[in-house]
Amino acid sequence: MTTTASSPPISSSASLSSAENADVVVLGGGLAGLSLAIQLKRRDPSMSVTVLERRAHPVPEAAFKVGESTVEIGAHYFANVLGLREHLDTRQLRKFGFRFFFSDGRRDIDRCTELGVSEILPTPSWQIDRGRFENFLGEEAQRYGVRFLDGAVVRELDMADDGAPHRIGYEHDGAMHRIAATWVVDASGRAGLLKRKFELADGSDHDANAVWWRVDGKIDPNLWSDDADWRARCTPPDRWRSTNHMCGDGYWFWLIPLSSGAHSLGIVCDAAMHPLDTMNTHEKAMAWLRTHQPRVADALSAPEHMLQDFAFFRKFSYACKRVFSGDRWALTGEAGVFLDPFYSPGSDFIAISNTLICDLIAKDRDGAPFAPYAEIYQQLYFGFYENTMTLYRGQYPLFGDAQVMPLKVIWDYTYYWALLAPLFCGDKLTEVSLLGRLRPQFERGRALNIAAQALLRAWGEANRTTGASAADALDGRLLDQFRIEWFHEMNRALHDMLDNRAFQQRIAQNVARMEDLATELLQRARDAHPYIDAALDAETGMAALLGAASPNDRATAEPSLRAVWYAAA
Ligand SMILES: Cc1cc2nc3c(=O)[nH]c(=O)nc-3n(C[C@H](O)[C@H](O)[C@H](O)COP(=O)(O)OP(=O)(O)OC[C@H]3O[C@@H](n4cnc5c(N)ncnc54)[C@H](O)[C@@H]3O)c2cc1C
Repeated sequence: MTTTASSPPISSSASLSSAENADVVVLGGGLAGLSLAIQLKRRDPSMSVTVLERRAHPVPEAAFKVGESTVEIGAHYFANVLGLREHLDTRQLRKFGFRFFFSDGRRDIDRCTELGVSEILPTPSWQIDRGRFENFLGEEAQRYGVRFLDGAVVRELDMADDGAPHRIGYEHDGAMHRIAATWVVDASGRAGLLKRKFELADGSDHDANAVWWRVDGKIDPNLWSDDADWRARCTPPDRWRSTNHMCGDGYWFWLIPLSSGAHSLGIVCDAAMHPLDTMNTHEKAMAWLRTHQPRVADALSAPEHMLQDFAFFRKFSYACKRVFSGDRWALTGEAGVFLDPFYSPGSDFIAISNTLICDLIAKDRDGAPFAPYAEIYQQLYFGFYENTMTLYRGQYPLFGDAQVMPLKVIWDYTYYWALLAPLFCGDKLTEVSLLGRLRPQFERGRALNIAAQALLRAWGEANRTTGASAADALDGRLLDQFRIEWFHEMNRALHDMLDNRAFQQRIAQNVARMEDLATELLQRARDAHPYIDAALDAETGMAALLGAASPNDRATAEPSLRAVWYAAA
């Protein structure tokens, strides 16, 4: 069946060119589509890949798209799987990790709790100027032999379900063209071409909004204090290279530096706690910042920080009913699902879905049965989506709690580095039999995480009820992730290349680490709020899960976190 894929009508003067063919046609040449094209060609240079991208290249730098901060999976994907390390090192910015300030309503940032690294952790990540990166990806794709058509708008999708080629109609240079493809991958982002055609859109109960803009110049948090010791807490003293999160109840504000010399800024918030209509113009966003993050607002009012753009999304999160099909089509990137930008998982999910799609296409080209794998990979992908969503859903009220939120960040990172990140970075994502053997560990990790999110939520609620969380926002402590030995080691170990037996042992150790941390968090939550167990589920809550490994049994074990992490008001 043929349907029109996007709303603008095809010009009546458009003429039809002769038919074309490709093994794979990628709809949309943004981050996901161009990365996939490169990955496919690196894996099998004989494959013919065409990318159809609506925008003309080169695209502008800086004020282009959001999605500028990478974390370990996405960074590994771009640097190592796609082989782009040199570009990242020389044309983008090496990121100084995440950094969080609990600074709602405050100008004295150096007196607020700061969470971050004092030195850069071993596994690298980068801040990405998206325009610069997509221009580079377009050139790189062509260097690999990808047929990259910019200024090409997909208009028609005639999708086969009988093994015959799919047929795509697109407009390019004023003419209408047709291309036949064995595989079609939708990487059209929020345009969601295949999602609309097959009515795959699915909602999300995570109701959060975002507004963002870019300004000229660099914003350096080190200039927000005259205290030389505070400035020197980081080596090198480059807080500006971090993804800086300024946190408060129900929201966070990002500062991301871009290599083109601009700074990206954005407010992300729980829709009920900070309605979008209080910030959906630049003027309103600045007024909101003057109330919630006045030090940042002061910095932004300097004349050198000229505004470049402003945009927003209402309810940015969504799911999808199907992303991989045995009928030789797939969705990747924002054409499929989107979670929440707090830990920058967008590029991670692009890396994961592209890798799964590459494997499906490779299996098909080898003549192997690939359709059952489409189902397995989809379950896996939706599982990652759901598990990662638990870090965000219902947790925004915690974001300003300077006592509990740092613990949550450590927990969330431990979970990520324990299971999902090693799987991807260790190149095990498509090893289905290994995944089967690892299932009990992954199930245990999942259950611990759900219980930990509930525990942290209950702890935050108890703090709010008793007014216990506010004062320690002012103590000027640095909660230094670099100095947590086991945390540092988990980060370093992400790139260990292990055989399957050693990998299984590593995952078991990582889950044991999660149990230790969970045990300690439960004990500390009980110390802070002796009746907290009443708020936890009797069957799935942390106390029930830890069972024999109760806090008292582990009382002599080395603490996971030093006392400063548990500072109470
Ligand atoms: C507020 C916010 C902050 C975020 N921050 C981060 C972050 O810090 N780090 C991170 O990793 N991720 C982040 N993300 C996610 C990130 O933005 C996405 O993961 C990423 O941009 C998705 O890339 P994509 O290629 O799927 O989509 P896009 O980059 O949107 O690419 C889709 C392409 O398809 C093209 N297209 C559309 N329709 C057609 C058509 N009919 N014909 C031809 N081409 C077409 C478009 O022109 C576009 O170039 C954030 C997201 C949000 C909402």
